Amino acid sequence: MTIYLKTPIEELPFIGSAYVKKLHRVGIETAEDLLFYFPFRYDDFSDVKNIGEVELGEVVSVVGKIVDIQNIRTRKRKMNLTEAMIEDESGVIKAIWFNQPFLTRNLRSGINVSLSGKVVYAQDGFQISNPSYELLGSGQSLHTARLVPIYHETEGLSSKWLRVHLKSVLKLAEDIEEFLPASIIKNQNLLSLSEAISQIHFPDNEESSKIAKRRLAFDELFLVQLYMMMQKKKWQENKGVKIKFDKSLEKEVKDFVESLPFKLTNAQRISSWNIIKDFEKNKPMNRLLEGDVGSGKTLVALISALAVIKSGYQVAFMAPTEILARQHFEEAVRRLGGIYISNPSQEGNFIEGSIVAISSVEPRTQDNPKGAMESLKMLRVALFTGSESKIFQGEKIEEISKKKLLEKIRIGGIDLLIGTHSLIQKKVEFHNLAFSIIDEQHRFGIEQRGKLQNEVVNISDGLKTVPHLLSMTATPIPRTLALTVYGDLDLSILDEMPKGRQKIITKLVAPANRNLVYQFIGEQVQKGRQVFVICPLIEESDVLEVRSATEEYEKLKNIIYKDFQIGFLHGKMKPKEKEEVMQKFSQGKIDILVSTSVVEVGIDIPNASVMLIEGSDRFGLAQLHQFRGRVGRGEYQSFCFLFTDSTSVTTARRLKALVKSDNGFELAEQDLKIRGPGELVGVRQSGLPDLAMASLSDAELIKKTRDEAKALLEKDGKLLKYPKLEEKLKKFTKEVHFE
Ligand code: ADP
Ligand code: MG
Repeated sequence: MTIYLKTPIEELPFIGSAYVKKLHRVGIETAEDLLFYFPFRYDDFSDVKNIGEVELGEVVSVVGKIVDIQNIRTRKRKMNLTEAMIEDESGVIKAIWFNQPFLTRNLRSGINVSLSGKVVYAQDGFQISNPSYELLGSGQSLHTARLVPIYHETEGLSSKWLRVHLKSVLKLAEDIEEFLPASIIKNQNLLSLSEAISQIHFPDNEESSKIAKRRLAFDELFLVQLYMMMQKKKWQENKGVKIKFDKSLEKEVKDFVESLPFKLTNAQRISSWNIIKDFEKNKPMNRLLEGDVGSGKTLVALISALAVIKSGYQVAFMAPTEILARQHFEEAVRRLGGIYISNPSQEGNFIEGSIVAISSVEPRTQDNPKGAMESLKMLRVALFTGSESKIFQGEKIEEISKKKLLEKIRIGGIDLLIGTHSLIQKKVEFHNLAFSIIDEQHRFGIEQRGKLQNEVVNISDGLKTVPHLLSMTATPIPRTLALTVYGDLDLSILDEMPKGRQKIITKLVAPANRNLVYQFIGEQVQKGRQVFVICPLIEESDVLEVRSATEEYEKLKNIIYKDFQIGFLHGKMKPKEKEEVMQKFSQGKIDILVSTSVVEVGIDIPNASVMLIEGSDRFGLAQLHQFRGRVGRGEYQSFCFLFTDSTSVTTARRLKALVKSDNGFELAEQDLKIRGPGELVGVRQSGLPDLAMASLSDAELIKKTRDEAKALLEKDGKLLKYPKLEEKLKKFTKEVHFE
């Protein structure tokens, strides 16, 4: 039977139905798909030696005849050993396998084999332990005596199985058509696609594996860039509400900024300016605001919101949890409400849940009577979550029924609506929404974010527009990386902290000093402070993670700190339960909060002064830095203690970087170099193919793919002249599930 690239795998020779199922599960349907299942590394078995010349400790391949082979059962440890003696002209060596008695079915005396593995010391000389092997037949070797490809063995696909079957379809690689324009292949000096596919699986040598990899990584990154740029263009075909930043609006915004009890950082100023400039276009903005914890993103959001509100439109502000939404609401009231407060001494303690009257509301005197009237119009800010609906109208915060609030939103009686997912329910109808803000955007799914990005018809004027969108995140993704994975967004970075922030004292603690830290924490709690304890991340299993965290919690509660209130937070809890615990912690009813890595990123607990992190080597630097940012938010000197069981030098070096630096972006860059981009990009791009993922730390390749994608789209924005590329892009985006 002749096979083609498009031949379904079930029609390929020697693929049983069990394997068909496994392959389907990883998205492999055809022979071509199989060819595009790349290895992620190689075992280097290319060093082929005479048996008499092998040396202790090296990884080698030898070729020889089996002169003896037998299965032995060890009494002591109840193991099956297979021992073979292999001979060539230069000598003889023993090979040994554990618990694979079936080997003797294939490997028999008198047969020529190739073996690859590590040379170890045994009582009676050298031996090769657990070598890869293959019979020497006619063809090229697959499992030994070369660079041997290793594949992700998910879904029970073994590398050995994949090698055999890839080999049987490898010839089809010649039929794979180029989809890249010839000019790009030439400019960038790329290997042809068919050659690259063939070499990625069975490279002639290390150099050719690299060249193949570069070509395929180029493809993936290039497709990502194309996709992002086309998305951006598509977005810009929408209409947005044009907010004219005229003199009077400028004054409003300036007055607001001046009313603040502190100066904006330069980064805040520039970001706000960029946003306001975006509003002036009649295309909807789509911007990502990245900034370390505490860099003041909320304020940038509020400044831009003010510009929109003062132009007569509504703003929606969505946060992932009720606590965060409430915190934003309080900040909005405190800051925006503050414009009208003549006596700013009210600044400060805002008691949760109470009705706070703000005294002596005075209209500002202005020369322009119309302006004065405008100023008199109070901002109407509302909080809308699953469990709360409140409204602030210039004087005080009041409870309001959901029904009434929804009605107010509909008729334009609310300027700024802050809330959780509840904002994107069908029943929430805006009067004239012109601007949506999403905090901690990675916490929302693509669909949820999309709902705030849909075209709306303004009830007020019938205008069909898409709201401007500001997404915010505290994940410090380095700029080059962000340009790729968030290439559809414009980017603003708050790379500067407000002045006067105290430095958090960070210490890497030797296990022997654990009790000193416990003692120190005890003293802090006695002084009235609060403490976070973060338990180790266990990636393989949520269940194990919760179990180990539970043990930690029990230990602290029942043994170390019997007199304190200990709280516990983990990923298996319902959102409502999590909120309750966080609520208690923020009210000071919990002294020490033990938590798995789920602890809320954006929450402000000014009274917390200690962050203790167990198993800190398991986290990325950026994440550790985010944990650390949970403390030091109030007036108290704060501390971060890092524990680790690891004795590795690299770990120590990595953690020391955290002790030295308090700049999230710097730490993220280091992480990117040391650990690759996986955890930085995280949820959003988890669908990215391996090569693209691995290449995200290759700034040069990113730039090249970006430049080529840009140049191509400038010539042909819809890829009309490149149907093969367009088809490939479609397939790629379907497989990758961009979020
Ligand atoms: P994040 O970027 O983590 O969301 P927030 O917006 O929550 O940070 O800001 C943290 C705190 O810093 C808030 O209480 C806010 O009022 C305050 N803040 C914001 N900007 C400044 C500034 N320029 N100077 C001093 N404090 C500021
Ligand atoms: Mg925040």
